[in-house]
Amino acid sequence: MTDPLLSVRDLTKHYPVTSGWLRRETGQVRAVDGISFDLDAGETLGLVGESGCGKSTAARSLLRIEEPTAGEVYFDGADVIEFDKAELKRFRRRAQLIFQDPTSSFDPRMTVGESVAEPLRVHGMRDRSRRRAIVTDLLERVGLDADDADRYPHEFSGGQKQRIALARALVVNPDLIVADEPVSALDVSIQASILSLLESVQKEFDLAVLFISHDMGIVREVCDRVAVMYLGEIVEQGPTAGVFENPGHPYTRELLASILRPDPRQRHHLSGLTGDLPDPADPPPGCRFHTRCPAVIQPADLDLDQENWRAVMDVRVHLRDEGIDLASLRELVGGEADRQVGTDDVRLKRRIREEFDIPERLEDPAADGALDDALDAVVDDDVEAARDVLAAAFPTPCEADRPAHYAIDDDHHAACLLHDERFLAEPEAADD
Ligand code: ADP
Ligand code: MG
Repeated sequence: MTDPLLSVRDLTKHYPVTSGWLRRETGQVRAVDGISFDLDAGETLGLVGESGCGKSTAARSLLRIEEPTAGEVYFDGADVIEFDKAELKRFRRRAQLIFQDPTSSFDPRMTVGESVAEPLRVHGMRDRSRRRAIVTDLLERVGLDADDADRYPHEFSGGQKQRIALARALVVNPDLIVADEPVSALDVSIQASILSLLESVQKEFDLAVLFISHDMGIVREVCDRVAVMYLGEIVEQGPTAGVFENPGHPYTRELLASILRPDPRQRHHLSGLTGDLPDPADPPPGCRFHTRCPAVIQPADLDLDQENWRAVMDVRVHLRDEGIDLASLRELVGGEADRQVGTDDVRLKRRIREEFDIPERLEDPAADGALDDALDAVVDDDVEAARDVLAAAFPTPCEADRPAHYAIDDDHHAACLLHDERFLAEPEAADD
């Protein structure tokens, strides 16, 4: 086997969080937290995940537009992190970045021809007529006219500008294109034409493409392999067909479910999940997805209906991260005429259960007792005690360790404990 064109190992990018007038560092945003993948020549790898999971940071770090905090990047066998200025310049020529917003990537005062030719100039091609010939040829290849070289960016639509951006990336004859949400800013009606253009130039120029997107539907169309990112980590990786037919991570399953939503603008809302993306400056311990995961694993001695279990975990996570404003809750319940039965505390506790879709009695009496104790503490305004009770009664293996990647199939793996032999015995009842 030949070496991959691009090889990324444990790539990490943390941003400091500072506070106070001295801007002392008080924490770190773990935007990218140890990701690894390979990309072969001529291959398209999709890097997919919801907004804020670290995709753009990964792209900038591996291209050394920003210095990574840690990790290794190899390009054609050479160590990118060790590149000096001259080597970096050569690397930047072979590895081109295309952005989401085609408007901001052009200087409005330069003609399209000048913009597309600029990389040639920067890389030392002095012959003006030769530059012109290359530029007009490329404009035609991306579906524009040779005459368009003399026009200005504002005269073009978003889709046309993205074609020009592609021409500019191709002008230096790169081996790799990192395309960061290249069609996300475009009308759905034009997306397909830009994607098919990307595919045809990729074949023609034998390009490797790192295709970044939050949209699994698009990834399925264009990518040979997929890496799914969640909160700075890759949680699943594999051939596109395998990942789509047999997703190994619950987060991937949520992303896939989101494709079915008819309105593409809704696709990044993962409505099957509770809560928002956690703060990457304070990621959850263990599997970072456990705070939202529908399949979060129960402790060995518990066997609740999975939805009830998830709901109890929601209470646990909510009390840990947000707490509860007891005064507002009292006011709310006080104003609800149909809730006059029972003592104040009973009504408050019942209201909290309802809010989280927990039945009045959990099927397991011990679990129900523990939950009730926690809710007693909440209505006593002792959230700290409630947290402790919940943490002791409802631990999950998912919060204990960062999960390893488990093999699903050839070249297909997922970082989810459900594939660990300790938990494999569980039948996947939810799937039928
Ligand atoms: P994506 O491209 O997947 O939407 P980004 O890579 O843009 O995600 O961002 C990942 C996380 O890193 C986000 O929480 C974002 O706020 C944070 N982030 C990105 N750039 C910076 C920066 N320069 N300083 C601090 N935090 C940043
Ligand atoms: Mg981004």
